[in-house]
Parts: sequence; structure tokens; C-alpha cells
Amino acid sequence: MSFDAELNQRLDALRVQNLFRELRRVDSPQSPHLQINGQPFLNFSSNDYLGLANHPALKEAATRAIEKFGAGSGASRLICGSLAPFHELETALAQFKQTEAALSFATGYAAALGTICALLGKDDIIILDKLVHACIVDAAKLSGAKIRVFAHNDLEDLEDKLKWASAKSLAASPAPRVLIVTESIFSMDGDVAPLREIVALKEKYGAWLMVDEAHATGIIGKNGRGLAEHLGVSAQIEIQMGTLGKALGASGGFICGSRTLIDFLINRARSFIFSTAPVPAAAAAATAGVQLAQSAEGEKLRQRLQSLIKQLQPAASSAIIPIILGDESKAMQAATKLREQNIFVPAIRYPTVARGAARLRVTLTASHSDDDLSRLVAALKSLNISPAT
Ligand SMILES: *Cc1c(COP(=O)(O)O)cnc(C)c1O
Repeated sequence: MSFDAELNQRLDALRVQNLFRELRRVDSPQSPHLQINGQPFLNFSSNDYLGLANHPALKEAATRAIEKFGAGSGASRLICGSLAPFHELETALAQFKQTEAALSFATGYAAALGTICALLGKDDIIILDKLVHACIVDAAKLSGAKIRVFAHNDLEDLEDKLKWASAKSLAASPAPRVLIVTESIFSMDGDVAPLREIVALKEKYGAWLMVDEAHATGIIGKNGRGLAEHLGVSAQIEIQMGTLGKALGASGGFICGSRTLIDFLINRARSFIFSTAPVPAAAAAATAGVQLAQSAEGEKLRQRLQSLIKQLQPAASSAIIPIILGDESKAMQAATKLREQNIFVPAIRYPTVARGAARLRVTLTASHSDDDLSRLVAALKSLNISPAT
């Protein structure tokens, strides 16, 4: 069989299972209103929660950085020198998250991969929430550490896994390092981790903790510093991760923590060391995003977002509102029918979520108008589905 024939057979298998994916070209900026194939769409798919991706302050910061530092970065930051916009960003991030230091990566995915693989090796143990993001799972596998998964947000199950790891530690010399990884707001369910209790458990068992705040950064806690700050447990979390590509409106990932952690990652995180630095414009836009999130305007945007969330789904704890439909074909049909009404909501399927747990994932942003929300509610009603199902 030819190469393409072999791949086509695999693609057909995806099509049969309603798991085939394709790109939709957008000819407008990311905002509540998108141009797709020359048609206007109301957009409920983006993680641009505060509407900063197309904000004048971020665009201006990016433009200024291009004028001063150019379009490209030349090489890895350790090879050709490290452009000032990255240092400005990292100073802003450390101050925002109230940690000693920060390190930016090209993406959140690269931050997870570089960090977990730098910290753990094959003699170590990593304990993951069942629903952590693919980048954490991939990092855990690549690290070679023993992986244990606890039921989603289940503290008893987490404690069982920690007890198992403790028993292993007693038997082995040197004792394995044990790292727990969870998200604070879960990306596809929008629910919240019991972070205070997880911190208590990690202290009790002497484990390390990494928290991925991708969907809480910019949104939750004072000035949008995240759930850890909101619950007063930041200082007990060794590794705080986030992305610059969601509420902060730009692109990139970051790790915040002690100066020692950041020095260690600069020396050991392979996704940082062996990759060309992102364009300086991305760092400058992200710095403007971090500043905006902490401003009075940022606070107003958060309040606007909260009021939209309460209107759509009073019980929701984040801007991510999943409407779980189960069957992959059902989710695909619902998304198609919404598109027929010029509303863009993604159908989320395996492997992003478990098989049979397919869903529409509605995300709200501070830039949606009341009218946008009414149109969504009416369209969902016409399909006989509601955000509460
Ligand atoms: C989006 C996301 C990431 C990856 O961040 P990128 O900057 O998009 O690579 C990591 N973790 C979670 C929970 C995410 O939702």
C-alpha cells in the first residue's frame, strides 16, 4: 500500500467514528465576531476570556517590539543572547504571580514538557488528575517516571496514590521524587480543583506540586492572579504553570516559582534550551496582557465576564460551559446545526475528552454583548439543548 493510501485508510477510520477534524480558515481577528468563508459567525469557541487578543494595548505593544527588536529572535535565548522583551515579560510575570522568578516558553505545551522532564526521571513518580491536559500527560510519559492517575478531583484516591508512593519510597534508595500535577480550572469541564486540600495532602506526604492555571490566569483571584493566590496557597506550590495564550491575549507559556527552580529550568528544560525563542512581539504583547489583567480595566472585564457567566449558567464556576451530549455524532450534529445559524461552538471529542463524553464547549468572553448571549441561548433552545444538561 502506498504511503498516502495507508494514511487515507487511517483517516477513514476517524471519519467513521465521527472523529475527523479539519481547519476552518478565519479572515478576521479573534473576537466574538468571526469571518469564515465570507460569512459572519458569532464566536463561542475561543479562550480569549478577557477579549485581549485584539486589544489596542496589546497590538501596540507588539508593533513597538517589532520596530525596536525586529520580527525574529535569531536562535535559542542561551545561544544568541536573550532579547529584552523576554526579561520584561518574566519580571512582570513574577510580580503578577508574586514569586521570586518566572520563565517564559514558546507555548504552555512546551512549558509542561520542558519542566516535567527536567524535574523527573525514570526512578521518580508522577501523580496526575485523570482530566489533566494532554501536554501534562505527554510530559509525564516522556519523562519516563512511573505514572499514577487519581480519579478527577478525588482526594481519597489521591491520598491512596500518595500512600502507594510513600511505600515505594521506603523500599527504594535513593527515594523517588513524587510530583502531583493538577489544573486549577479544568479545560474541558470548567470545574475547580480542591486546591487547598491537595496542598494539605502534598505537605502531609512530602510530595511536590505543580498546578496548571491555564484557564484561571487573568480571571480568578485578586488581579486575576489565579486560584492558588485566591485560596492563599501559592507559597506552598513549587511549580506554578500558566499560558499567555488564553486570558492574557498573546501566545506562549510560563512557569513561576523560586529563583532556584527557574535557574534549574534554564539549564535543564530541553524545550526551552533547544528551541528558537518566540518572536519578541509575542513577549511584548504578553507583557501588556499581564499589565492589563491587573489594571482597573482588567477588573471591569472580569466583572463583565462573571455577569455573562451568571446569565448563561448560574451554577458555572468558570467561563467554560460544557454541554455534554455523549455520542460523538450528536456533538457533531449539534455543532453543525449551530453553524447553520452562524454560531461557532466547537464539538469536543475523543481524544480531547473520553470516548462517549463528547460535548459542545461554549466559552464566554468579556467582549460578548448581551445580544450575542441571547442569540446563543435562542439557538441552543431551537436545538432543544440547554447549558444545564
Ligand atoms: C491550553 C492549555 C495548555 C497549553 O497551553 P498553550 O499555550 O496553548 O500551549 C496547557 N494546559 C491547559 C490546561 C490548557 O488548557
